[in-house]
Amino acid sequence: MESVTRDEARVPYPRRIFCNRNLRMDRIRFVGFDMDYTLAIYEEAMEHLQSEMVLERLSQQHGYDERVLQAKYEPGFAIRGLAVDKAHGNVFKMDSHRFVGRVWHGGGPLDKELRRTTYTNRMLSPADPSIVMVDTLFSLPEISLYSQLIAFYDGLPEGEPRPTPERLWGDLRDSMDMLHRDGTLKARILADVPRYIRKDPDLAETLHRFRSANKKLFIVTNSEPNYTEAVMSYLLDGEHPAYPRWRDYFELIVTSARKPLFFSSEEPMREVDADWNVVDAPIAQHRKGAIYVGGNAAELSRLGGFQGDDVLYVGDHIYGDILRSKRTMPWRTAMVVPEMERELELVEQHTGELEELAELEEARFQLELDRAAAQRNGARGQELKELLRGLNQQISDLEAHIANDFNPYWGPLFRDRAELSAFGAQVEDYACVYTSRVSNFRQYSPFWYFRSPRDRMAHELRR
Ligand code: IMP
Ligand code: MG
Repeated sequence: MESVTRDEARVPYPRRIFCNRNLRMDRIRFVGFDMDYTLAIYEEAMEHLQSEMVLERLSQQHGYDERVLQAKYEPGFAIRGLAVDKAHGNVFKMDSHRFVGRVWHGGGPLDKELRRTTYTNRMLSPADPSIVMVDTLFSLPEISLYSQLIAFYDGLPEGEPRPTPERLWGDLRDSMDMLHRDGTLKARILADVPRYIRKDPDLAETLHRFRSANKKLFIVTNSEPNYTEAVMSYLLDGEHPAYPRWRDYFELIVTSARKPLFFSSEEPMREVDADWNVVDAPIAQHRKGAIYVGGNAAELSRLGGFQGDDVLYVGDHIYGDILRSKRTMPWRTAMVVPEMERELELVEQHTGELEELAELEEARFQLELDRAAAQRNGARGQELKELLRGLNQQISDLEAHIANDFNPYWGPLFRDRAELSAFGAQVEDYACVYTSRVSNFRQYSPFWYFRSPRDRMAHELRR
């Protein structure tokens, strides 16, 4: 926190933009946005709706016992970056080296001995077919329900039929997938948009500021055109005198984009007419105010006149929005992590304890060095060992106390004990900048130079 410039110090910590790779906003001429969970933030009511609908589907279409309908979605249980072990019915958190941290089975932590035999000293391979990483906010309800249903089936008397953990996951995933694809979930959202989507009062002004600095804006969303129209008009129509309609803000609007495929495919882009029919003609020049479907990043770049590194793409999904846009296109990336706002508020509230923890860890490190030296000399080993044991206990008590306030099941989003969590490491590796909301850009000049604390090597910091 000490290293922020005077200007940035005005911005409340939970609303700052954090930088992994230097980004000069004066070089950015195009700013693109994902829609769902980026421009449009969903309320918790959406998670309940997804849960209720997915359970109905399990019972009506997959032949599950009606008792599954009683499983209750527990908001706050799941966080991004968790993994599901479908072979064992477990949910767990991993650190940046893919070592398993906390493990949950059904209604509680996995039995210690089982945890040890299944996961200790095992670095999980990304290719392991029984492990699924959860990386979108849309998937949080699935994780909570999976654990609840595992608990329900574990509790059935011996001999009662039950699905394997793998089958259960497959059916849950399939039902959720279909809910998104066949329009039933979206129909319910559209029937009461304010209930499910949060309006950010600063969004219109944020977009206007980008435009006033001569940046052109565009949207690339996987949502369908009519859904995009309904959600975006709810968020932006009539919100700023210079832009009566939401489409007035954007140069290009691409829907049903099929990210991450969008970044590498050759699928042509098509316009949709006023009745949402796809017009089957190639697009020579784009038209402001039109809505397009499909397409690919190369075509979009050609139509928009993008060079590559003059584009900043803002999204919430590491895999769909961030990683691919960086790997296949030289676009710069900003990741929206809505969960961060609460996490950073907690960091502020726990500043003293976090500092104390860092000091204890440093003391432990020194003590370990002393102990190693003592052992080499054959002296004082026992006394140091006792001290170290005490310190370890102090550290784990304090860690547990702090982690509990972040999330009693999993601890902080970005950390796993002394390491970065797998999710934290991904954000660090792939996002040029990251922040809790799109409208945080409003707090910074559109020509701001975001500087990374990592733009120097250790030897350059002190001379
Ligand atoms: P975007 O974030 O604006 O690109 O849009 C995300 C889209 O993906 C939304 O239309 C969601 O309904 C959809 N979506 C989210 N999860 C799933 C899924 O599991 N299967 C199919 N579509 C999904
Ligand atoms: Mg999204």
